[in-house]
Amino acid sequence: MVEIKNFNKIIVANWKLNGSTSFVKDYIKGLDYNPNNSPSNCLIICPPVTYINQFINSDYLIGAQDCSIFKEGAYTGEISSKMLSDIGCNFCIIGHSERRALFNDIEINIKQKIENCFNDHIIPILCVGENLMQRKQGLTKDIIKDQLNLGLPKKFKSDQIILAYEPLWAIGTGIIPKTEEIHEIISFIKNDILNEKDYKILYGGSVKAENYKQILDLDDVDGLLIGGASVNIDEFNKILKF
Ligand code: PEP
Repeated sequence: MVEIKNFNKIIVANWKLNGSTSFVKDYIKGLDYNPNNSPSNCLIICPPVTYINQFINSDYLIGAQDCSIFKEGAYTGEISSKMLSDIGCNFCIIGHSERRALFNDIEINIKQKIENCFNDHIIPILCVGENLMQRKQGLTKDIIKDQLNLGLPKKFKSDQIILAYEPLWAIGTGIIPKTEEIHEIISFIKNDILNEKDYKILYGGSVKAENYKQILDLDDVDGLLIGGASVNIDEFNKILKF
């Protein structure tokens, strides 16, 4: 398993439903980032599963965007964490808000997926966050606490999982919380929910070249989960100067 505790900052590129074989070739050629030159930082690329194989002999760390609650059997269309591990995938995004909202990914399933990842030596990247109405009602911390209490397995260590705070109203909208708010929520997760500073917690939601540095430089923020800007090579290369 990849030793995440040694990394200072982690960037996760979530391609969502984007890409093609030629895009992957251009991406690998165009990325201005050599993981071997910055061993204290970490870049994890999460393309659609069909393109993971194209990355296998590159130096990049690879993640999937979801996995099945099932391990094997008659579950047409599913891909298990064991299969992801088998093709050289080290990470898997779990509980992304798009999967929760559009594909009925509920907490009991999220917990099962995380357990499957642990069993198959994959580091899950668990996404949590409130929607706009919950934020307006002052429920952000309660929502996140519930998502973590219900979604996390009972026993695990801080180096087995990455968490990402992704307010739903910030994803793909161009709107981001104030840096103080990001800091407050991430510190709350570390200090008040998990009671351990060693967890790696990322921020995600409308991160771009123009705003990434002010967020990444925040104390307690261990990295960024980036959607739209991660499939724009020029934009992403500016962020990869981290
Ligand atoms: C995401 O997909 O998790 C995300 C944060 O998307 P975007 O960067 O486009 O807001």
